[in-house]
Amino acid sequence: MGKNSMSGQLRTLKSSVLPNAAIRTGEKRSVNFIKNMQESLDEIRALWSALTPKEGQICAYCGGYATDEEHVTPRAWIERAQELADMGINIKVPEEKIVMACRECNLIASARIFETFTEKKNYIRWKLSLKYKKYIDSPQWDDDELEELRGEMRRKTTIYNEALKAVQARLRFIGAKTILKHNDYFKNLYG
Ligand SMILES: [Zn+2]
Repeated sequence: MGKNSMSGQLRTLKSSVLPNAAIRTGEKRSVNFIKNMQESLDEIRALWSALTPKEGQICAYCGGYATDEEHVTPRAWIERAQELADMGINIKVPEEKIVMACRECNLIASARIFETFTEKKNYIRWKLSLKYKKYIDSPQWDDDELEELRGEMRRKTTIYNEALKAVQARLRFIGAKTILKHNDYFKNLYG
């Protein structure tokens, strides 16, 4: 008996013993999810912050939902650089530029000083790619799979699934896979 027909028989046996194998798989995934969720509530909150943006409210760095007006270069730094330049010190005074950003990107950049938008954008995108690396290839649940679940488990899994969709859209927007391929380059640049 060939290996293939053996595993074929095993599959038939399994599906007759377990009439709905999908439910079992689904429950296992949900249990894992709930366990993980307790360990990473902060991450789930961050996933939610990336919910589908409305027009004109798109974060300039990640494509997520923008809530804040953000100075690319901190105003205080521009003023300081101007003072130094006026004293005759050879320093480049960055231009003032304001963009819309989400809270998370704002926090990632925090007090770090960037002289150009591109520099800051690349830094934030690199940090986001590292942070959400594990979600890049996570499988999404489809409607049929969700319908197999019941009650609280279905509710929580649906929430997780929506957040996963949002974060994956964001990872695609920033080109996370390409960024991670060049991780060493970014580490040298910003690390
Ligand atoms: Zn953002």
